Amino acid sequence: MSHFKAPPKKNLGQHFLADRSYIDRIVMAVNLKPGDRLVEIGPGQGAITFPLLRKHGELTVIEFDRDLITPLMEASEGVGRLTIIHKDVLQVDFSKLAGDEGPLRLVGNLPYNISSPILFHALEHAGAVQDMHFMLQKEVVDRMAADPGSKVYGRLSVMLQAYCSVTSLFDVPPGAFRPPPKVDSAVVRLVPKPAADIGIADPALFERVVRDAFGQRRKTLRNALSQVCTGADIEAAGLRPDARAEQLAVADFVRLAQFLGALPPADRPA
Ligand code: SAM
Repeated sequence: MSHFKAPPKKNLGQHFLADRSYIDRIVMAVNLKPGDRLVEIGPGQGAITFPLLRKHGELTVIEFDRDLITPLMEASEGVGRLTIIHKDVLQVDFSKLAGDEGPLRLVGNLPYNISSPILFHALEHAGAVQDMHFMLQKEVVDRMAADPGSKVYGRLSVMLQAYCSVTSLFDVPPGAFRPPPKVDSAVVRLVPKPAADIGIADPALFERVVRDAFGQRRKTLRNALSQVCTGADIEAAGLRPDARAEQLAVADFVRLAQFLGALPPADRPA
């Protein structure tokens, strides 16, 4: 008999994974190793939770819906050691959760309405995260993993790829969920880069450069970045002022932000 009685809640993005073959593919993609500190975001009715728990023996989950907490706890009896954090994931301090016992492996079929805030929240704690395997809207995964020159290469691609390696793993059709979402989904792997490889001294300045550059996609860098720097700055950083943001590699944005951050205080962007 199922422990889960409450109907799915739309406002919490509840589309439960029901196709066993995709559940197996996610578990395989995570490729668990003994001792891994696994944390699932949004376990729902446990579609991914219980296969992971059976395999690994222990698992921490973060679930916001109070109606799911007792059923999850009851369903875990005899399966493994399930720790449930009943909280909004955006309020969970991953660095504190990791403590000094090693970085976390995050997994989740994310609520699509807050998937980008969850990604950026996890990035803020990148030092405490070993890797992430997330199911998201396919359209978002395509943007996350896009290369320069692609139509969907933009702010999300650059912001994520500057801090992580991003790999789109496989697509999942609406029919794999109950109820089915309106859009296709995809599973993505993100692996935070070691701090020394990122090379961004001033994250706020980097974010501003990327935001302004893509804010006016059709404009040249010189025009799009007019509030941040001059054409001469762009050239001095080794880039063409008449290029467009979508033509720049992630490393180019890093180089430009580093160049601007190293200018004498009077010449730096306000
Ligand atoms: N993992 C389950 C599955 O694959 O069937 C459920 C996935 S469902 C797309 C998203 C889950 O995230 C739901 O269980 C929902 O209640 C939960 N959720 C929504 N907003 C949340 C938040 N802010 N913090 C934590 N969990 C949240």
